[in-house]
Order: sequence, then structure tokens, then C-alpha cells
Amino acid sequence: MARIDLEEVAHSYAPRTQSLQDYALKRIHITWEDGGAYALLGPSGCGKTTMLNIISGLLVPSQGKVLYDGRDVTAMAPERRNIAQVFQFPVLYDTMTVAENLAFPLRNRGVAPDRIRHRVKEVADMLDLTGVINKKAAGLSADAKQKISLGRGLVRDDVAAILFDEPLTVIDPHLKWQLRRKLKEIHERSRTTMVYVTHDQVEAMTFADTIVVMYEGEVVQVGTPEALYEQPRHKFVGYFIGSPGMNFLACRLEGDTAHVNGAVIPLDSETAEAGRRARGKLELGIRPMHLEVHSRQVSGGVPVAVRLIEDQGDAKIVTTALDGQTVVARIPETHPVPGEKAWLRFPPQWTRLFADERLVG
Ligand code: ATP
Repeated sequence: MARIDLEEVAHSYAPRTQSLQDYALKRIHITWEDGGAYALLGPSGCGKTTMLNIISGLLVPSQGKVLYDGRDVTAMAPERRNIAQVFQFPVLYDTMTVAENLAFPLRNRGVAPDRIRHRVKEVADMLDLTGVINKKAAGLSADAKQKISLGRGLVRDDVAAILFDEPLTVIDPHLKWQLRRKLKEIHERSRTTMVYVTHDQVEAMTFADTIVVMYEGEVVQVGTPEALYEQPRHKFVGYFIGSPGMNFLACRLEGDTAHVNGAVIPLDSETAEAGRRARGKLELGIRPMHLEVHSRQVSGGVPVAVRLIEDQGDAKIVTTALDGQTVVARIPETHPVPGEKAWLRFPPQWTRLFADERLVG
């Protein structure tokens, strides 16, 4: 196992690209601690696979260094880095049996036959492959084939890290839940450094202790699921984590209040102070579940028009319009009715300010 550092890593697939703005990865500085369970989360095209391939050595970055336990491995070939990688689609030998496929990474490294037998059995048990252990991979279902790929990634217990690139994409949704939890259990037992790429926030939160959020080639926040939810440091994190995502409203400051068109929203004094120091386009951010919805005027309430109410069973999602800007609230019960007026209260302790997409302060 290893601690892995990326130091000022940037990558462009077009060798002549001059501006960092056009790079697929833009000067990333990040540490993957030894034994950590990480999710690398972000939308399609934000650079997750590029980052993973730079860690494993499949790609040499245009700039910067990759360190394993402090040792510079930037130019080292992938097979010498001692990394296991599991991809989105099955990577295996169709003509081999399940057991032979699982044994392959060990045989390749000259592991003793007894040890190979033991590990193959262990991994097959973990992934419920024991029933098909002597079957050829070619005849198995897509789910089983991807489980074999996972097994090939997990079978060695001496790797520096295991990298998973959206490994459950082809798996049936029902089995996905089980496998996700299984991977978490395997991490807890083995404490091997694991990096799990996904664009699915639920998958990221189930698997990881720490989530690394990427957006447009940058790491915008690293934190626990709770920290990302409660203290998003970038607009994208507020919008991407949580369902529905955070509300953002263009605003201007006056003293300790934010003005959203004609509406006046009180802020806590620290937030207002940080907002006054910030430069750039100001926006107020609040999570739908932190808003209060009242059917009559209350102190500090802001009048809105109720547009839509969606029943999610355990909660109601209320879409409102505040002077032309949409505000969504998530509340346990509904009092308002579409077409009527309601009053929103923005509790100051949950009301944040963002300047040019970044949390102020
Ligand atoms: P996805 O979730 O869709 O796999 P991702 O977050 O993994 O996306 P990358 O595959 O790392 O993103 O791609 C980052 C950027 O680099 C994208 O703009 C993509 O088009 C570009 N890119 C990726 N691979 C190549 C390549 N081999 N040649 C040129 N451009 C590439």
C-alpha cells in the first residue's frame, strides 16, 4: 500500500495547447493517503479517467509529478507501479475459466500455487463466483464477467492501490447495491488504498470516507460526504451533491442583508463580512431542506409564488418563484398550493454566499 501524491499535475491531450484553461487537467495538487477509501466524483468529461490513468501510469502527465510514498514515479511504466485497475467494461480472458482468470495476476507475479489457490477461493467466495468457478468466462453473463474483472483487481493483496473506473456501470441495478457494499467491506478488511471513479453521488457516498469532487479539470473540493453537503466550497458541489441541489440566487449586499431583487434576506454577520471582502459575481446559496415554507407572512419571510409541488413520499418538493428566480424547498408537509403565494424564510446559519462560483470566507 502507498500514499500517492500528485504535485502540480496538469495534462493536455493536444501537445500544442498553450493555455491551462484548455487542459483536461489543470494543475492538480492532491494526496491519496495510505489505506484511504476515496471516491473521485464529477460529471462526464471533467477529467476523472485522465487522473486515474496518470496515477496508474497509463498516461504520463504534460506537467507535474506523481509520487508513491515520496518516490517520483512519473516516468515509471504502469506494470512496475504495482497498481490494480478495474475498468468500466470486463477485462478478462474469455477462453479461461473463472478460476484461471482470477489466478492470472498472481501467476504473472510468480506467487506460490498454494497461495494462489487460497486467494482465488477467497475472492470467488467474496464475489459469489464459487458456483461458476470452473466455467469458461465466455459463457457467463455480463454481470458475472464484470465480477471476474473486479476479482482480478482485488486478488493481489500486495498492491500500492486499487483504482476502479466506474466498475459497476454494466452491472444490473439490483446487484449494484450488493457489490457497492461488498467493496466497502473489502476495503474495511484490507485497508488497501482505493480510488473509485463515479459520476453517481450515491455510489460515491456509499463507498468512500473521502470524496474528491472534480469539475472542468479541477479538484474543487475534498471532504467527507457530510462536509460536502453542509459546507460546499464551490457552486458545483452545492448543485451536484444533494437532491435537489442547492439553490443559487443572484444578490447584492447591504449591511448584513442580501438583496435578491426586492427581497431582503438576513445573513449572519460573518457571512456578510466575508461577502463584503469578496470580489466577483455574488450569489446566495441555500439547501432546499434548510428553507422554511409558510403559508402566511412571518417575520423575515420573503413572499414567493408557488409554481409546483412534487410529492416524493417522505417529503414534498416545492418550486417557487422569487422575482423571476427559481427557489426550491424540500419540506415534510405542504401547506402551500400551486398558484398561491407563500413566504420563505432563509435561516441565516444555513445561508451562504458565493462569489464567482466559490464560497466566500
Ligand atoms: P467520463 O465520466 O465521461 O468517463 P471523465 O471525467 O473520466 O469522463 P476524461 O475521460 O478524463 O473525463 O476526459 C477529460 C477531457 O479530456 C474530456 O474533454 C475528454 O474529451 C478529453 N479526452 C479524454 N481522453 C482523450 C484522448 N485520448 N484524446 C483527446 N482528448 C481526450
